[in-house]
Amino acid sequence: MSQRYNDIEELPGVSAKLAEKLRELGYSTVESIATATVSELVAAGVDEEHASRIISAAREGIEIAWVTAKELAEIKTNIGRITTGSTRLDLLIGGGVETQAITEFFGEFGSGKSQICHQLAVNVQLPVRRGGLDGSALYIDTENTFRPERVTSMANSLGLNADEVLERIIYAEAYTSDHQILLVEKADKIIKEKNVKLIIVDSLTSHFRSEYLGRQLLPERQQKLNKHMHKLIRLCRAFNIAAVVTNQVMSRPDDIFSTMAVYPIGGHIVGHTSHNRVFLRKVAGKPLRIARLVSSPYLPEGEAVFKITERGVEDVEATE
Ligand code: ATP
Ligand code: MG
Repeated sequence: MSQRYNDIEELPGVSAKLAEKLRELGYSTVESIATATVSELVAAGVDEEHASRIISAAREGIEIAWVTAKELAEIKTNIGRITTGSTRLDLLIGGGVETQAITEFFGEFGSGKSQICHQLAVNVQLPVRRGGLDGSALYIDTENTFRPERVTSMANSLGLNADEVLERIIYAEAYTSDHQILLVEKADKIIKEKNVKLIIVDSLTSHFRSEYLGRQLLPERQQKLNKHMHKLIRLCRAFNIAAVVTNQVMSRPDDIFSTMAVYPIGGHIVGHTSHNRVFLRKVAGKPLRIARLVSSPYLPEGEAVFKITERGVEDVEATE
C-alpha cells in the first residue's frame, strides 16, 4: 500500500500534542486514523470537523479509493495462506487460513480451538514454500491457556528452532473485554514493527460472555463485539494479515452463542464478506477432530477430519 505520510504528525491538522493524544488512544499509525470513524475521534475529544479533515487526509495518504474489479482481483491475489498442519483441514478452508479475513474456530471445550491457535502461531513463521508467511504472530489470550511448552514441541516437530519461534510470538493476556478491545486497537504499531502476519484472539467471546450477562445487556455486547470484529478486519486488510478467533459453544438451547447467529446486530457485513467459520467437534476417546466449514463467503460447506497429537495438528493416516 503506497503511503504519503509515515507518521501521524505529518497529517495536516495534527499537531505534536494531538498526535501524542491520538497515540495514547491507540491511533498510532496513519492506517489507524484512516480506518477510524469520525465518531471514534469525537469520542477521543477531537471536534467533529477537525476529525473528519484528519481522517480524509489519512485516507488520501494511504489511497483508500475505488478500485476496478480487475484491481480488486489483484488485491485478492495477494491473499496469503497459513497451513493448519493438516492438508485436509487446509483444503476445507480453501488452502489454509487466509489473510485479509477473519477465521473463527468454534466448538465446545477440548475441541481443539486453542491447539489450532498454538499451531498457527508456529506455522505462520514457516517460509511460504512450507505453508507459512515468514511472519510473526500476535497472540491475545483471554483465558490464560497459552502454553510456551506446547509451542516448543510443535516447533521441534517441524524442525524449527524453538527459541526463535517463541521469540516471534508476541503475547498479551487480556483481562477484560475492554482490555481485549484496546489490545486490538493498539495493535497496528506492533504489527508493522514485528512483521506480524497473524493475530490470534483466543477466545474472542469469553470476556463478553461473562461480563454482559442477561438479555438486557445483549445489544450492548453484540455492538461491542461487532466493533471489535470490524477493527480486526480492518487490520487484516490494511496489513494483509490473517486473524484467527475462537468461540466456545455449549449445547444449551438458551445460549445465544450456541446458535449459528453469533453476531445478529449489524454483524452481517463481517459475517458475509470476510468471515470464515469452522465448527470443531471431538471424537470420543480418540485424538481425531472433525472440522466443518459452516459459513464462508465463497467456499462450499464441507467436513474434514484431522488429529491433535503431541506433535500438533496433523493429517489422519488412512489406517486410523
Ligand atoms: P476450551 O473451550 O476449553 O478452551 P479448546 O477447544 O481450546 O477448549 P484445546 O485446549 O485446544 O481445546 O484442546 C485440548 C485437547 O487437545 C486436549 O483435550 C487433548 O485432546 C489435545 N491436546 C492438548 N495437548 C496435547 C498434547 N500435548 N498431545 C496430544 N494432545 C493434546
Ligand atoms: Mg481453549
